Amino acid sequence: MTDAAGDFDAVVIGAGFSGLYMLKSLRDSLGLKVRVFEAGDSVGGTWYWNRYPGARCDSDAYIYCFTWDKQLLQDWQWSERYPGQAEILRYLEHVAQRHDLKRDIAFGTRVTSGAFDEQRNLWVVHTDKGDEVTARFLIAAVGTLSATNMPQFEGLERFKGRWYHTSRFPHAGVDFTGKRVGVVGTGATAVQAIPEIAQQAKQLTVFQRTANYCVPARNGKVDPEVTAARKADYDGIVRRIRESPFGQEHYFIEKSVLETTPEEREREFDRMWDAGGFGFWIANYQDMFFDQQANDICADYLKRKIRSTVKDPAVAERLIPKGYAYGTKRQPLDTNYFETFNKDSVLLVDAATDGAIEAITETGIRAGGKEYTLDIIVFATGFDAMTGPLTALNLQGRGGCTLTEEWEHGPRTYLGVAMAGFPNLFTITGPQSPSVLSNMPVSIEQHVEWITDCIDTMRREGRTTIEATPQAQDEWVAHVAEAAAGTLMTGTNSWYMGANIPGKPRVFLPYLGEAGVGGYRRKCDEVAADGYAGFALT
Ligand SMILES: Cc1cc2nc3c(=O)[nH]c(=O)nc-3n(C[C@H](O)[C@H](O)[C@H](O)COP(=O)(O)OP(=O)(O)OC[C@H]3O[C@@H](n4cnc5c(N)ncnc54)[C@H](O)[C@@H]3O)c2cc1C
Repeated sequence: MTDAAGDFDAVVIGAGFSGLYMLKSLRDSLGLKVRVFEAGDSVGGTWYWNRYPGARCDSDAYIYCFTWDKQLLQDWQWSERYPGQAEILRYLEHVAQRHDLKRDIAFGTRVTSGAFDEQRNLWVVHTDKGDEVTARFLIAAVGTLSATNMPQFEGLERFKGRWYHTSRFPHAGVDFTGKRVGVVGTGATAVQAIPEIAQQAKQLTVFQRTANYCVPARNGKVDPEVTAARKADYDGIVRRIRESPFGQEHYFIEKSVLETTPEEREREFDRMWDAGGFGFWIANYQDMFFDQQANDICADYLKRKIRSTVKDPAVAERLIPKGYAYGTKRQPLDTNYFETFNKDSVLLVDAATDGAIEAITETGIRAGGKEYTLDIIVFATGFDAMTGPLTALNLQGRGGCTLTEEWEHGPRTYLGVAMAGFPNLFTITGPQSPSVLSNMPVSIEQHVEWITDCIDTMRREGRTTIEATPQAQDEWVAHVAEAAAGTLMTGTNSWYMGANIPGKPRVFLPYLGEAGVGGYRRKCDEVAADGYAGFALT
C-alpha cells in the first residue's frame, strides 16, 4: 500500500502514548509511510501539557508504560510508585528517541479539519500551518483528556492577577510563594495540586462544586525486591493486565459486600486502604458497582476517614461527598489532601453551603455574595472528555456528514474504534471503548495492535476501504448503553456522563461491558477473526 495515491498511507493525529505507538507500529512493523501531526512542541501528550504542581500518574508505574518494548521494561527504572509529570515525559521522550520517532512528527501543528474524498478514497487533512495532505487512513490519537474545559465565568477578562488552567500550565512553573491563590475545582487534578500549592501560598482558597471520594495514593519508593520480582515476571504481568477488567492487577473479593459481617468488611477495607491507590476501588467487592446498599457501605467507610482526618467538623462535613455513589466519578488519589484543610492558611468555599462562584472580579472571585481576594487563580476544571478532542477535528465523512452532527445526541461508534459513514478512520481509546475506565496504556496498546492488524489484513487482501456498518454501530451503541444502565454510573453527574460541559448530551461515554478490558479485547479479536464482522470492506 505504500504506492497508495495519497501523500501518506496514514496520518496520525497526536503524539502521546497512542500516537507514538501507532507511528512505531505502522511505520516499523508494516513499513507504511506515516505522518503524525501534534499540536504540542514535543511528544508526551498528557505529560507534555499537564505541568501543574503535584501532577503525577495514579496508575502504578510498572504498568503505566509501554509493554511492547520488552528490553525497555527491563532497563527503565521508575523512581517511585507514581512518578511525576517530568519523569513520565522523560520516559516518552526516551521512547521517541530510542525508536527514532520524531522524524515523522510535525510538532506545533494542529489538525483543523479532515474530509473523506469519496472519489479517491482518501482522507484530506488540513492543519493550522496551512498543510493539506492526503492519506488512505486517518487515525485519531488525540487522547480522551486533552480538550481543556474552561468554564465561561463572567468577568475573567477583568481579573488583574494571573490565572492558569492546570492542563496548560507554564513550562517554567509558577511561583506561589507569598501569594493569595484560588483553586477552582476539586477533581483528581485539584486533589494532586492543592496540597502542593498550599505549601507555598500565603493563603489558599479552594472553590468546591462537588466533594469527592478520595483514597490515599501511598506514593513512595518501591521496594527493590518487588521491582526485581516484577521485572522477572513481566510476561505474566502483561498477560494478566491485558485479560483483567481494568488493565490493572486489582484485588477482587469474590463475594457481595452485603454477605459479609461488619468486622470482616472493615478488615478488608482497611487492607485496601493501606494498599492505597486503585487497590481501593469500587470493584473490589462484586456488588459495589451495581447495588446502592452495597455501595453505601463502602462510601460510609470513606466518609468516616474524612471525619477522622479533618479537624474542624464543619469543614469535614462539607468535604464529605453527598448525593452520588462512591466510584461513579473518577477516583482521585490523594497525598495529604484532606490534611491540607487543617492548615490555617487554607479555606474551603463550598458551592452547596457557602454559595457557588458568581463572577471573577478585578481582584478575585465572588461566590455566594462574598468577595475572595486573590493574586493567582488556578482552574482545575478538567476536560471536555472523550468526545471533545474528536469533534474538534471537524471531520467530514461520506456525503459531507460531520462527526459533530452525527454525535449530536452522544457518540455513535462501532467498538469505540470506528464510525459508520467515516471509512478508514480509527480512534484510539475512543468513546464506547473501555478507555478511561482502564489503565490507559493497556487499552491504547490493544487498539493500536488491532488497527495495525486490520490495516495489514486489508493490505494483504488488496482492500481499499473499511467502514462500520450502520447496523453494527446501532447494536454497539445499544449494547454500551445497556451495560452502563446496569450499574450505578449513570445516576451521577460525572464527566463520564458529559455532565461537566453545559449542553453536552448526558450519555455514559466509556464501555463497561464484557467484564471490561479483557472481555472487550476478546470481542474485538473475534470481530477480526470473523473477517471484520460488522464492517464493510471494499
Ligand atoms: C493529569 C492526568 C493524569 C493522568 N493519569 C493517568 C493515570 O495514572 N493512568 C491512566 O491510565 N491514565 C491517566 N491519565 C489519562 C492519560 O490521558 C492517558 O493515560 C494517556 O496519557 C493518553 O495518551 P494518548 O496519547 O491517548 O492521549 P494524550 O496524551 O492526551 O495525547 C493526545 C495528543 O493529541 C494532541 N492533539 C489533540 N488534538 C489535536 C489536533 N487537532 N491536532 C494535533 N494534535 C492534537 C494533543 O496535543 C496531545 O498531545 C491521566 C490524564 C491526566 C490529564
